[in-house]
Amino acid sequence: MADINFERFESTLRILNPFNNFAEEEHRVEVRKDPLLHDTSVYNPFLRDKAKAFFGRNDEELIRKLVDETSANCIFCGDSVRTRTARYPEDLIPGGRLELGEAVLFANLFALAPHHPVIVLSKAHFLRPTEITPSHLGDGLSLARRYLQEATERDPALSFATVSANYLQPAGASLVHPHIQMLAATMPYTYHARLLDGVSSYMVQHGTHYFADLIAEERSRGKRFIGKHGAWNWIAPFSPMGSNEIMAIHNEESDLGRITVKDLRDLSDGITRVLALYEGMGHLSFNFTLYSVKGGETVGFRCLLKIVNRQNLYPNYRNDDYFLQKLLQSELILNLPEDLAAETRMYFHAGEAKGIEQESP
Ligand SMILES: [Zn+2]
Repeated sequence: MADINFERFESTLRILNPFNNFAEEEHRVEVRKDPLLHDTSVYNPFLRDKAKAFFGRNDEELIRKLVDETSANCIFCGDSVRTRTARYPEDLIPGGRLELGEAVLFANLFALAPHHPVIVLSKAHFLRPTEITPSHLGDGLSLARRYLQEATERDPALSFATVSANYLQPAGASLVHPHIQMLAATMPYTYHARLLDGVSSYMVQHGTHYFADLIAEERSRGKRFIGKHGAWNWIAPFSPMGSNEIMAIHNEESDLGRITVKDLRDLSDGITRVLALYEGMGHLSFNFTLYSVKGGETVGFRCLLKIVNRQNLYPNYRNDDYFLQKLLQSELILNLPEDLAAETRMYFHAGEAKGIEQESP
C-alpha cells in the first residue's frame, strides 16, 4: 500500500480589526490539497462561526409558498408523470418508462447526454430531506441501474454514468418534486475524467489502487472515517469540494450496472443519514453525484458518491458558489472535515446500527 499524502500549507497574516478597536490580530489560513487531484480548499478558523451568517436560515414560509404554487401544474405529480413526461421509443424501453415502488423513470425532454433519464422518487410533491426514505432513493437508484444495464447491453461502449440530485432551487433544481437524474455516455465529463485519470496515474506511479489505499489510510487514521456501511466506506474528505462534503466509496465495484440491490439500499440508507445531519445543521438544499465507470476497477476506480449541502432558501439569498468555487475551483471550509466526521458518526450510529462498523478516531 502506498502512502496517501494529505498536504496542508499554513500561513499567517496581520490585520487591524475594527470590531476589536483596531487591535492588531494575527490570522491563520490553512490550504489543503486533495490527495488525488490536488484541488485546493481553504480554512480560516476566524470564519468558523460564520456558517450561520453565510448560509442564513431557510424561510419556511417561502418554501411552503413555493411548494403550494408549484403543485398544481407539476408534471411529476399524480397521473402527469405517466402522461405528460417524455417517453422512450418502444424499441429502447418497452412501455416508454420504468417503474419501481413510487419511482418512475422517463426521458428528459432536454437531454445533457446521449442517455439522460429523469427519475421521480416519490408520489408526494414535496418531501423534506428527512422525509426522503431509503426506499425512495433505493428504488430510484435501482431504476437507474436497470436503465444502465439495458442501455449498456445495446451499446457496450457506454462506460461512464453518473446519478445526481439537485434538491431545491439553491442546488439548481427547477422542480421541487423529489427527483434524481442519470447521465450516461461513451465519454466522461470533466470531473469524472479527472478522477479516472487520477487513479490511473496513481496506479502507474505506485502499483496500487488509489481508493483502496485511501480507505485503508482513512480507516487507520480514523479522524475522517465515519463508518463502513455494508460495502460502502463513508468518509469526510480531507480537502472537500463543497460544503460539509461526505463521500461513500464502494469496497470493490466501479460499475453501477454491477452494484447489487442490497448495496444500493445500503447506499440509500447512508444518504438519508447524511440528509438528517444536514437538516440537523439547518440545511435543506443539497446536491449529490454517484460516479460509475464500467471496467474502471482494473485501474483502481471505485463507485463513489459525493454529497454536499447548498445555500439555504430565503429571499435574496447569497449564492454559495462564487469566484472561489467557479473560477478558482477551490472550496471554503467552514466545518473542518475532522469535526464533520465526528458529528456525522452520531447519525450513522443512531438507532439501528446493524451493519455499520465504527472506526475509533
Ligand atoms: Zn409534483
